Amino acid sequence: MRSFDYVVVGAGSAGCVLAARLSEDPRTRVLLIEAGAADGPESMAIPPAWPTLIGSSVDWGYVTVPQPGTNGLVHPYPRGKVLGGSSSINAMAFLRGHRAGYDAWVRNGAAGWGYDDLLPFFKRAERAAGRDSDYRGTEGPMVVSSAENVHPLAHACLDAAVEVGHPVTADLNGKEQEGVAWLDTNIVDGARQSAADGYLHPASVRSNLTVAPNATVRRLTLSAGRCTGIEYSVDGELRWVEASREILLSAGTIGSAQLLMLSGIGPADHLREFHIDVVADLPGVGANLQDHPLAGITYSSAKPVPPTTNQHSDLIAMVRSRPDLPAPDVQLVFLDIAYHPPTLAGPTNGYTVGFSLMLPHSRGSVRLASSDPDTAPLINPNFLGDERDLAAMVTALRLAREAGEAQALAQWRSGEVLPGAAVRDDGELREYVRRVTGPYFHAVGTCRIGHDPLSVVDTELRVHGIEGLRVVDASVMPHIIGANTHATVLAIAERAATLIAR
Ligand SMILES: Cc1cc2nc3c(=O)[nH]c(=O)nc-3n(C[C@H](O)[C@H](O)[C@H](O)COP(=O)(O)OP(=O)(O)OC[C@H]3O[C@@H](n4cnc5c(N)ncnc54)[C@H](O)[C@@H]3O)c2cc1C
Repeated sequence: MRSFDYVVVGAGSAGCVLAARLSEDPRTRVLLIEAGAADGPESMAIPPAWPTLIGSSVDWGYVTVPQPGTNGLVHPYPRGKVLGGSSSINAMAFLRGHRAGYDAWVRNGAAGWGYDDLLPFFKRAERAAGRDSDYRGTEGPMVVSSAENVHPLAHACLDAAVEVGHPVTADLNGKEQEGVAWLDTNIVDGARQSAADGYLHPASVRSNLTVAPNATVRRLTLSAGRCTGIEYSVDGELRWVEASREILLSAGTIGSAQLLMLSGIGPADHLREFHIDVVADLPGVGANLQDHPLAGITYSSAKPVPPTTNQHSDLIAMVRSRPDLPAPDVQLVFLDIAYHPPTLAGPTNGYTVGFSLMLPHSRGSVRLASSDPDTAPLINPNFLGDERDLAAMVTALRLAREAGEAQALAQWRSGEVLPGAAVRDDGELREYVRRVTGPYFHAVGTCRIGHDPLSVVDTELRVHGIEGLRVVDASVMPHIIGANTHATVLAIAERAATLIAR
């Protein structure tokens, strides 16, 4: 391959933004390199089919290590492996975190990444018609729609949420980020819009942008403290390419941490275990893995639950488990399917009120299992590893059940199947939460921004101690924000593109 100004590693949510924005300048030569294929199965476009993509050809197929907090369960840990990355297999929910979360990043050393700093970039990413223009963008590549053809069950769930006291908010991505609302999604004319659809495909006609799918990066090449290029393989053949300006690592929370460590950037002791030469001892690489723990209460339905054309959750609520908290800490997600681990028997015709902690305390890690890039790393989200999360999940369960038991849902509710209406005691509920809690697929934090010894990148996302290398993806979040992560990853990448171009 020719040499490039920028080589972007990973065509996921962040990588698509970088490739599209940086190539807007026709003098800038950009290579975007992606391990997955250019496209995937037709079901990728069909919103309600998203759960079938887990474990498919467009998923890396990772699993977690056994999770002590969830009775030793091993959870599938999907990550998209195709142009668009995880935005091509995700559930298409488009939600910003509460402003308090980003402002806490700043207090923890991530100057420039507060809510007001990011707001122009949230707006730049989206095209959300008919909303408050102080908060919402109208010209961006990602089309945001609020559920069309709302499921009849979701209408009843809205009434239930109101009945138990949750205020209705017109726009959870707007000024009022608390209450119950129809969910914003990236669904256009009934089909998924991934970051590849929104950003990359329109840009890929440019002659200064080269997109290379089916190319797996194996390590970064480094010389005298500078990242000079990457080594990658295509059909088993090793190749190498240089970047005259920068390598931009956007391989995601798992992939970016793994690639840094394979390249000698990470915790020195851990790298030496695998006989990897240490280039930079950065103990924070791979640490601080966070995800939102997700569980649900599942009901059998008194009447057939009709199929949906949406992504199964038209309605969402952001609520506080205690009134004295500064921001919502629990998300309730109303699902028109019975969503529970396959280890438990659920109803054939049912629905779930899901609940998730937005600000969990548990911290996990990504560690190498081998110095061979083809070996999956050890992924430990450490669900419920912190006792406070278990207690908070029980509180969240009670909030979900309160809505699930509301009169407004009486016409749908045949009975509570999981955990079962008789299970009410705190100890039993804790045990149930341990059995059902799994990932919400919002992995962040393994290359976090900051200036303390456990941070990995500075406030301009440059890897500490290495020239010519930035990380731009979900891994740089100092801690998880109070929402599904995709919208935030796009805003981070939008801001990064501005910093890089400058
Ligand atoms: C099943 C699922 C459902 C989700 N649902 C939602 C949702 O509804 N709403 C929401 O907001 N968020 C959701 N998320 C999370 C959201 O999609 C992610 O936070 C976001 O897409 C992450 O973007 P990223 O750029 O950090 O990583 P990714 O989008 O994962 O991109 C990383 C890219 O790098 C590539 N890559 C990795 N390693 C290499 C390598 N060695 N060589 C070359 N390429 C490599 C990958 O193949 C991938 O394309 C979901 C995620 C999943 C997996």
